[in-house]
Amino acid sequence: MEYEAVIGLEVHAQLATRSKMFCGCDANVFEAKPNTHTCPVCTGMPGALPVINELAVEYAIMAGLALNCQIAKFTKWDRKNYHYPDLPKGYQISQYDLPLARDGWLTIEVNGYQKRVDIRRAHLEEDTGKSSHAGDHSLVDLNRSGVPLLEVVTEPDLRSAEETYAFLVTLRSILRYLGISTADMEKGAMRCEPNISLRPVGAEEYGRQTEIKNLNSFRAVRAALAYEIDRQTRILESGGRVERVTMGWDEQRGVTIPQRSKETAEDYRYFPEPDLPPLLIGQEWVERVRAQLPELPDARKARFIEHYGLSAYDAGVLVADKETADFYEDAARAYGGKPKTVSNWVSGELFRLAKESGAAGGVTPAGLAELVSLVDRGAISNSTAKEVLAEMYRSGEAAGEIVARRGLAQISDQEVLEAAVVQVLAENPEQVQQYLAGKETIAQWLMGQVMRATRGKANPQVALALLTRQLDARKEQS
Ligand code: ADP
Ligand code: MG
Ligand code: ZN
Repeated sequence: MEYEAVIGLEVHAQLATRSKMFCGCDANVFEAKPNTHTCPVCTGMPGALPVINELAVEYAIMAGLALNCQIAKFTKWDRKNYHYPDLPKGYQISQYDLPLARDGWLTIEVNGYQKRVDIRRAHLEEDTGKSSHAGDHSLVDLNRSGVPLLEVVTEPDLRSAEETYAFLVTLRSILRYLGISTADMEKGAMRCEPNISLRPVGAEEYGRQTEIKNLNSFRAVRAALAYEIDRQTRILESGGRVERVTMGWDEQRGVTIPQRSKETAEDYRYFPEPDLPPLLIGQEWVERVRAQLPELPDARKARFIEHYGLSAYDAGVLVADKETADFYEDAARAYGGKPKTVSNWVSGELFRLAKESGAAGGVTPAGLAELVSLVDRGAISNSTAKEVLAEMYRSGEAAGEIVARRGLAQISDQEVLEAAVVQVLAENPEQVQQYLAGKETIAQWLMGQVMRATRGKANPQVALALLTRQLDARKEQS
């Protein structure tokens, strides 16, 4: 039988506020020394009281609006109780029945088709600490404890690992455009727990799902889903039943491992947080946030197509990453010529350089504009420009300076080029003879000799015209 995957996601994104969700500790804990970003509140000392981080709430409203959600007028905090060494309070403050945002959607693009994915809810909560195990003892680091998290839960609308990947990339891009999260999976600032089940193709009813935890890269998400689809297919094909369990992804072995049976809401003994008041979100606040939302990727893409005359594909490539889109826009303005030309340089050569070095290079938007103008003016050839760009990328030096220092300027001077052409023809009488005898393709070889003689600096259009004229003149004489 053929099966179809059904996938729904729970995504946690760390909100980029300076302080934690309910205390004043510095929330930027990545690679900090263990237990240095802690206080009585986030270490769960008796009697310590939480205070709501207002900016985190505002960030969650921004996310809710960007995900086309309804923002709750009345929302509250709930305790999610469970016992774990990295959870000193014995509960996590979260939002249970009244999430801050609900009933939204997001459009994703996968291999050329568009698809709407419904967002069930988005709510605020606090992160837990982190346990690690060393030999016969265990260690706990509470730096993460209390870090503000936005949890986004989708409906089970995704149907493949590719769609899941597209959703995560789209969500990450939106969070970054909003400036509310670095959304860096590799640094733990965005984490994803896919729920996945299979059903026979054409069936209405969903199958029983497993949930996968511990995925800390996009690659891991894809690999784990592929593995789990395979595993569940084999169970169903042999007439078995998929157990509703939480699986952990073992990165080393590339397998999912059952961790525990799925908890139910009852297991968590949710109840309203008595130490915090409910949250009333006035319409004015929502409207003010809405009015200040930055332009989001989809809108920017439409504007790039409309305003700069880019293809949907080119615009999509440029807007996927906010920094790239900003760079492109600044460069296109500084350049002033055809915006498509700059787009080609950014998504071609610059992307290639970035991929090779894996780092941001020294090219500024104005620097790229200068380089492209040099090509337009015929000062350097296209291939020289690529070389110059690579050097700009490495050293940050300006295009004009590199060209002057290395003597790369293209020769467009008629007299200089004519002399080079005449000399090449004089040095290669045999090839000239062949040309005159009708083998016209030899002109290309002669052109190559002219380029060599000028060490690649001849303006190709001018040189070719001169060469053709010289050869034609000899033809008439013969
Ligand atoms: P809870 O975890 O509160 O019990 P659900 O299990 O309904 O809630 O939903 C958790 C996540 O699992 C959501 O992202 C949802 O889209 C997804 N999900 C629900 N049912 C299925 C299913 N049959 N197959 C795959 N994913 C599912
Ligand atoms: Mg769950
Ligand atoms: Zn604290």
